[in-house]
Amino acid sequence: MTTHLTLRTSPPHQGGTPAVDLPAAGPQGQRTLLDRHGRVARDLRVSLTDRCNLRCTYCMPAEGLEWLPTEQSLSYTEVTRLIRIAVELLGIRQIRFTGGEPLLRRELAEIIAFTSALRTDEDKPVQTALTTNGLGLDKKAGKLHAAGLNRINISLDTIDAERYKTLTRRDRLKDVLAGIEAAIDAGLEPVKINAVVMPGVNEEDIVPLARYCLEQGAQLRFIEQMPLGPRDQWKRSEMVTAADILAHLQQEFSLTPAVEPRGSAPAALWEVAEYPGEHIGVIASVTHSFCGDCDRSRLTADGAIRNCLFANTETPLRELLRSGATDTELATAWAQAMWGKLPGHGIDDPGFLQPRRTMSAIGG
Ligand code: SAM
Ligand code: SF4
Repeated sequence: MTTHLTLRTSPPHQGGTPAVDLPAAGPQGQRTLLDRHGRVARDLRVSLTDRCNLRCTYCMPAEGLEWLPTEQSLSYTEVTRLIRIAVELLGIRQIRFTGGEPLLRRELAEIIAFTSALRTDEDKPVQTALTTNGLGLDKKAGKLHAAGLNRINISLDTIDAERYKTLTRRDRLKDVLAGIEAAIDAGLEPVKINAVVMPGVNEEDIVPLARYCLEQGAQLRFIEQMPLGPRDQWKRSEMVTAADILAHLQQEFSLTPAVEPRGSAPAALWEVAEYPGEHIGVIASVTHSFCGDCDRSRLTADGAIRNCLFANTETPLRELLRSGATDTELATAWAQAMWGKLPGHGIDDPGFLQPRRTMSAIGG
């Protein structure tokens, strides 16, 4: 039988959860990151920096953002402590490092090595993954793989050099392509490519990107643009939907739905008859949200827990961490933050409020 503790958030967050019935912890303070809608978070996204060397128009303003001062970012010791608590006390089994641009974090390989050495509640190694823009990856892929990195997602929205320059405000397409090659050569498996499609910007890149990835043996996943960037960059009525993306692809390729079970993975996978064994994924984050199966928790570079990309509240752990809290106290605050997760992102609700943090500051 599950026993419950009643905890009170202090002070109550705006729109947050003033009092919650949180399942009690085990003898060593172990819990799962359960929410009150029955979902359990097993997948943690850790943002290692809010800084970036690109300025993708849908993510950041041209001048960048006001970066976190170093003392407000979690140190190596702090971030690895929270990762250990997440795995050993909270049942996290997979960790994806992101940013900003995680390759800019000096201790990235050391953080990956630390994480890979942890064992999950099923006594298996923690799975590690990285989401990166790929700049500088040509020099780092081998080292990261050797440190224990299991999977990598590289973001690439066009393979046209001019459009890449316009879209990211930097002339770096060649570097990304070199990074993708290096990741494949280093034996990272699978290498996935993330592409966001925006109206009037890169719809004509859908087919060339697909061809490039199919030829390379990298799995391309198209992602619907979400309202998480500069405020004037997204309109629900104008967005390119998963259905639009599929229609473009179907003009060139014969696609059939892949048979593998999807589980909590957000991408609907398609088999491509012209490239046997290869798949293309489409992530309909807006038009067919997968909130009901969401198994994610997020830790920002300044030490806040977010239970959803779109949450308007978050639970800061940094001050608790710096004021001498025990592992069990930190785990309890984290579990409480997840317990209050809302059932869905609410993008289509009339009262939807875009979060204050952009994707780069949350960690996509
Ligand atoms: N800098 C790294 C990169 O670009 O891969 C990691 C951080 S970035 C915020 C993570 C992912 O979020 C990227 O694949 C990016 O394309 C995606 N992203 C950023 N803003 C987005 C938005 N408004 N809607 C959908 N995806 C977005
Ligand atoms: Fe940087 Fe990634 Fe945002 Fe582009 S999407 S500006 S690479 S954080």
